[in-house]
Amino acid sequence: MNQTKVVLVRCDTYADAQVLKAIQTGLDLLGGISVFVKPGEKIVMKPNVLIGTNPDKGVTTHPAVFRAVGKSLSEAGARVYYGDSPSFGKSEVHLRRSGLKQVGDELGFILADFDSGRLVSHKDALLVKKFVIANGVLDSDGLVSLPKLKTHGLVRFTGAVKNQFGCVPGLLKSQYHIRLPDPYDFATMLVDLNTLIRPRLYIIDGIMAMEGNGPRSGKLKQLNVLLLSSDPIALDATACRIIHLDPEIVPTSKPGEKSGLGTYHAENIELVGGNVESFLAPSFNVNRTPPMPSSGGRLRTFIKNRITQRPVIDKTKCTMCGTCVRMCPVEPKAVDWYKGDNSKPPKHNYGRCIRCYCCQETCPEGAVFIYSPLLGRVFSRI
Ligand code: SF4
Ligand code: SF4
Repeated sequence: MNQTKVVLVRCDTYADAQVLKAIQTGLDLLGGISVFVKPGEKIVMKPNVLIGTNPDKGVTTHPAVFRAVGKSLSEAGARVYYGDSPSFGKSEVHLRRSGLKQVGDELGFILADFDSGRLVSHKDALLVKKFVIANGVLDSDGLVSLPKLKTHGLVRFTGAVKNQFGCVPGLLKSQYHIRLPDPYDFATMLVDLNTLIRPRLYIIDGIMAMEGNGPRSGKLKQLNVLLLSSDPIALDATACRIIHLDPEIVPTSKPGEKSGLGTYHAENIELVGGNVESFLAPSFNVNRTPPMPSSGGRLRTFIKNRITQRPVIDKTKCTMCGTCVRMCPVEPKAVDWYKGDNSKPPKHNYGRCIRCYCCQETCPEGAVFIYSPLLGRVFSRI
């Protein structure tokens, strides 16, 4: 089997010149930008915006990375578009809050439509045969994915594969949580999304990563690395090895390999430009236990509530803004005001909760954290 190439490039600041140099070095090691784009093509850059936040918070792909990749695409003659669908609200608002719109305006990149989409079928999918995809993606010639390296409650890690979830417009994303509450099904859907969209190139911003309560409220962790590849499974696996997370337990790895999207096995990955050891962060705070499969049934729910992780609200941080209640995709809500009283923090109903962690992901105060019950911690060590 031919090895898949993953490039690692050291970059220890977000200074524009340094990031540009690192991106150009990385692209050269992959054979040059012309391997991925042709002059005149309409190419969409897809950063991870999640919820527009000041770039210093480490939630979103940094504008310096976005700028450097966009410049490289422009110089190759591509017509550069960009966009992402956030958890809620208009994409333009969140792109502006994250500093990306300003870079786009300055360099003449065009905002793509990520607020509405069209239904497309995917007959070769492993699980999900139809998706609504943002018009901006469907109307392009190709996509360059710019994920951020962060922890994630549901799938442990968010990087290259997960980034394409933002190609599903608006609140439609929450429907996938309802339809696919099992983390392994959800991960297979993410793989299907990638085999449908087939980004040409993925570049992970791991200069400043996020550990702990990611993907929005974790702590910053400087890793000083940019990772580039056309294989998102190999790219994520390599990023996981850097943060000492076994790619075997990341639920996108196996379906990713099964679908032909890529490989997570180290022996099938050729590392170029650097090695994992020189970026290793073994103390990176990430959940290293496999996600628990979910399915119906009372006994299962009983067990689930005693051993699996759950979202919990830190009452000292909660400002009663109600975002978690609005974003919970379950009906009736699995987090809601107790007896309608919005002067106190909302409460979770764990019997209803599908552990999608949308409440944790979207809480603007970082007041929702993921609690691991003692029994679950004991089981995970057996
Ligand atoms: S989103 Fe966060 S701050 Fe807002 S009500 Fe929920 S827990 Fe409180
Ligand atoms: S309470 Fe939170 S984790 Fe549970 S279903 Fe609602 S949004 Fe998802």
